[in-house]
Amino acid sequence: MGEKRIGIVGGGPAGLMAAEVLSARGHAVTVLEAMPTIGRKFLLAGKSGLNITHSEPYAQFATRFGAASASLRAALDGFTPDALRAWAEELGTETFVGSSGRVFPIVMKASPLLRAWRARLERQGVDIRIRHRWTDFSEDGLRVETPDGERIMAFDAVLLALGGASWPRLGSDASWVDPLGRRGVDIARLRPANCGFDVAWSAFFIEKFAGAPVKGVTARSAAGTIPGEFVVSRNGIEGSLVYAHAAALRDDLEENGAATLILDLAPGRSAERLAADFARQGGKASFSTRLRKGMGLDGVKAALVRECLVDLPGLTPQAMAAAVKALQVPLLRPRPIAEAISSAGGVRFTAIGEDYGLTALPGVFAAGEMLDWEAPTGGYLLTACFATGRAAADGIDRWLSRKV
Ligand SMILES: Cc1cc2nc3c(=O)[nH]c(=O)nc-3n(C[C@H](O)[C@H](O)[C@H](O)COP(=O)(O)OP(=O)(O)OC[C@H]3O[C@@H](n4cnc5c(N)ncnc54)[C@H](O)[C@@H]3O)c2cc1C
Repeated sequence: MGEKRIGIVGGGPAGLMAAEVLSARGHAVTVLEAMPTIGRKFLLAGKSGLNITHSEPYAQFATRFGAASASLRAALDGFTPDALRAWAEELGTETFVGSSGRVFPIVMKASPLLRAWRARLERQGVDIRIRHRWTDFSEDGLRVETPDGERIMAFDAVLLALGGASWPRLGSDASWVDPLGRRGVDIARLRPANCGFDVAWSAFFIEKFAGAPVKGVTARSAAGTIPGEFVVSRNGIEGSLVYAHAAALRDDLEENGAATLILDLAPGRSAERLAADFARQGGKASFSTRLRKGMGLDGVKAALVRECLVDLPGLTPQAMAAAVKALQVPLLRPRPIAEAISSAGGVRFTAIGEDYGLTALPGVFAAGEMLDWEAPTGGYLLTACFATGRAAADGIDRWLSRKV
């Protein structure tokens, strides 16, 4: 098979990984990237340390993608968390396992890795065209807006790695939904994932506590009981513990029109002990003092109790303790998808073959966050983007060799 021309649309983790694999196999690879630079979201992920993958046992890791776990399994098997760490190390980025089992580069950022990766791609002959926005298909190839006007660019095979719908100002604006939908590609509605939620906080609570971290609590939803921390925001709640519950809460809101996050503000103490300690403070002490001395709750935690419980003075110590162990925070709605860490939904796995090729558009493949899967934070998102980028590259290679 001679050298083939492959167009990869989207210069994020999925597209660049496919570019690496295909150029290493001798194909002529062109990456079309709409923004003035590649990997913007990857670099943003680096701002919070770049949690690149997770060190938990692989059998468990591979189940973190919910209903899509089985569909992603072959791709993940082909590029496991260990393989990902070895790949990063080869590019000069050593990684370490944090206390939570999450894996980060020692330098805690993405820029050195992206720089070394780009240099490797250029050495392998990958042609990266920035400010090239794919808009649609035409009879003769891809319609691409370039600084010199619209061009039609033809390739032997095309990979779309256009990302999801979160943080659109970094480039992934989901403008692919319309052109693909019109050509019969089945796309699950894009929804926020790993997102915050709106809560109807009182003006007083917002003024005093917006931005306050709530640490050392556990939170319960259909996702399970999970320890961690979150942040009170002006609109509601944000942060890692909220993101861990976000998919379950979002689905609850959609299905039932209501959802509640249940907090245990004193996870180290039983309800019996809390009730006894609260009662011991006596009725004469102020309510704040009883909460602080009896239950160890002050600051934002005490304010959350006041905010979420009605009829406080009338509650018995037992009822107070039960409420502190299961404080109900009613949620109004998820924050908009543009603010989310990632998006759920996308090109359904039933719309692609095992080689990641779109059934409706022979010769066009898809990879990364634009596919219909979601996962919690913890390095799962990037791992699946890298892994599907590689799997789609393999798929393209096989498809091209079958074509000759
Ligand atoms: C704040 C934040 C922090 C995150 N932190 C982590 C983390 O620590 N760990 C983790 O695993 N994940 C993290 N993620 C998620 C992770 O960054 C994404 O899942 C991942 O970047 C998706 O990769 P992708 O290649 O599929 O898409 P993207 O990275 O979104 O790349 C898609 C590319 O396609 C380009 N593009 C889009 N449309 C067109 C078009 N029409 N023509 C040409 N180019 C186009 C875009 O400009 C973009 O460069 C974070 C996300 C955010 C927002």
